[in-house]
Amino acid sequence: MPLLLRVDPERPDPEIIHRAAAVIQEGGLVGMPTETVYGLAGDALNPTAIARIYAAKGRPSNNPLIAHVADRGEARRHAADWPEEAEALAVRFWPGPLTLVVPRARHIPDELTAGLDTVGLRMPRHPVALALICAVGRPLAAPSANRFTEVSPVTAEQVARGVGEGVSLILDAGRTQVGIESTVVAVTGEGVTLLRPGMIHRSMLEEVVGPLRAPGALPTDDAPRPAPGMTPRHYAPRARIQLVPSARLGQMLEEPPEGGREGLSAADASAGAITWSQPVPEGATFGRRLPASAEAYAADLYDAFHATDAAGCRELLVEEVPEGPEWDAVRDRLRRAAHPANPSPLYSSDSGGSGQP
Ligand code: AMP
Ligand code: MG
Repeated sequence: MPLLLRVDPERPDPEIIHRAAAVIQEGGLVGMPTETVYGLAGDALNPTAIARIYAAKGRPSNNPLIAHVADRGEARRHAADWPEEAEALAVRFWPGPLTLVVPRARHIPDELTAGLDTVGLRMPRHPVALALICAVGRPLAAPSANRFTEVSPVTAEQVARGVGEGVSLILDAGRTQVGIESTVVAVTGEGVTLLRPGMIHRSMLEEVVGPLRAPGALPTDDAPRPAPGMTPRHYAPRARIQLVPSARLGQMLEEPPEGGREGLSAADASAGAITWSQPVPEGATFGRRLPASAEAYAADLYDAFHATDAAGCRELLVEEVPEGPEWDAVRDRLRRAAHPANPSPLYSSDSGGSGQP
């Protein structure tokens, strides 16, 4: 098991940061809190460290990783071109949960970008992440610290349970704040394209750079780029998930379909529920009512998914969430978690760790 070290999220102990930095400088991996989710952090310029990240996640190596930097100047050094939209977005939203995909500088290893000629860059705002990047003195690759297609961790314990074997050290700074992964946009000099919705949503981006390219085009299942957030099944707990309109939730729990739900015996047909506008209906074997604001809902969502797994829940009804740009990222994660290709270990031999989309 990896060593879990508690750190103050606001004022991390420099000694602990230096210890973690030494692990990364030797090519090792550290479980690192960011404001979005916990990352599996390694030296973004060291191909050996990058290979370890892919192995620990069981992630196909054609999915590029994000390099986390300490400031805008450093980001520019890793970009072959830094379009004015990139500068404007970084000025407005960094440090914060926004990743900018820009043409990559020549020293960026192929392993990091999966051979693409672009690189994803982000300056996180978590003091522990920033301190670690500075202490290492190099950009840190830090994809979410979970096995491929499973739910991203928002606590250090979830990192230990998910990828514990793959890291020697986890910095425990408590639960993360934003709760879901960063917004990803491509800024390639011909406009700005949203690749993955996040809590910095479309309207916020458009206030800075004007209309995005391909408006309304959230990543789709057949999107051409080999980007992990764009695989259809992702962010999924083990339970099979169904999205349900608010009005039908109680009724669906009362009346499981005849013969039980598909693939389940009648005895197992009970289901858990995640709601936001109403109390968890009676009859749910597991339940969480999440907050009614998009930000607070997102902050709690993955914790609810992890709790769903811990409760052994096999079937989960999730109340549909409201329309509106501030809910786009939540809606995206729910849609992916509910994707029928979701590799549930309870229903197939796929452990969820190695499947190709
Ligand atoms: P994660 O590190 O798990 O938060 O996921 C990384 C995300 O970064 C993916 O969803 C991709 O959309 C995105 N990404 C990173 N680098 C690139 C790139 N060069 N081109 C396109 N997307 C990228
Ligand atoms: Mg991830």
